[in-house]
Amino acid sequence: MERLVRSCYKQGGYVFAKKAGGRTHGAGDERIARLASNENPEGPSPAAVMAAQEAVLTANRYPDERVDVLVSALKTHYGDYAFVAGVGMDGVIETLMRTLVEPGETVAVSTPTFSFYGLAAQAQGAKVVSVPRRADFSVDIDALIAAGKDAKIIVLCSPNNPTGNATRVEDVKRVLEGINGFLFLDNAYVEFSGIDYLPLIRKYENLVIGRTFSKVYSLAGLRIGYAFVPAWLQPYYARAGTPFTVNSVSAAAAAAALSDDGHADRYIGHVRVWRKRYADKIKFPVLPSDANFVMINVTPHTGDEIVENLAAKGVLVRSCRSFTGLGDHYIRVSVGEDWENERCIQELNAL
Ligand code: PMP
Repeated sequence: MERLVRSCYKQGGYVFAKKAGGRTHGAGDERIARLASNENPEGPSPAAVMAAQEAVLTANRYPDERVDVLVSALKTHYGDYAFVAGVGMDGVIETLMRTLVEPGETVAVSTPTFSFYGLAAQAQGAKVVSVPRRADFSVDIDALIAAGKDAKIIVLCSPNNPTGNATRVEDVKRVLEGINGFLFLDNAYVEFSGIDYLPLIRKYENLVIGRTFSKVYSLAGLRIGYAFVPAWLQPYYARAGTPFTVNSVSAAAAAAALSDDGHADRYIGHVRVWRKRYADKIKFPVLPSDANFVMINVTPHTGDEIVENLAAKGVLVRSCRSFTGLGDHYIRVSVGEDWENERCIQELNAL
């Protein structure tokens, strides 16, 4: 019966990071350090937990299809922008592709980067074009514009996963002015960078900025993301989306999380301290990062070797081998709790 499956799903798919498999402790009863998925190691804000608990009491009802509770909280927090929401930023990316991309159209992606853009574009029958970054992982803006001239959507991740570096606002502006289609700017990690791309939203009608509650707001398990969009796009996005896609518990928790700036700020401060410590203390070259993780060049080892080696010692990190165009000598390490980061540094340096 497998012959009935679409050819694009016969192989490939999203590559997940190594998991603890529900375990919190390793064989020698040491705690497992989870540094593979760029999660906030602290639990969600108590305000978010309370809002979720309250919302679940009315889970017999379908959620509000306009996700008003979240949209109004976003407006209070950021100002009067137009927003859409989704099941994680992944859900936003998927719905955006559905809204905009006809089969056979081009989606150009600045690589190496997060893989789901290509997968979501492929699901719409798009032709996915990869536009490689330079050797230092900075974006070749002219190449991106040239490759993106005829693309329906150009995707740029800043700060980029897995390289960690950010693209300057001026350069993003150049892309927006040079292309004919849309720019999807992935800002999953922007809160850790201090860069403000939002003034661009006021000016450009072909820009969508994706954001998530999975990282700085500590709600990865509730799968909730959003985007700043040009107002004209909103009704089309709503038409293309799965009905009631954002559940009421996640929406309530996310709205409440926005009100707890202290929780987010504490984590951002912690990330900044540890990015520097990683760079100072790890014996391998650590790339400069504007995100809540760092990418490390582990040559002469391969990323996979290091992941297996560290996992055996109860430290989970991510191999970058699956990121197209990156080669296999890199790992990505999230900033975790102090003890997790210390363990990771110690095990890496002991190699
Ligand atoms: N974009 C980037 C760059 C990411 O790293 C991730 C998650 N790892 C996402 C989007 C998806 O985030 P979410 O959990 O909101 O679906």
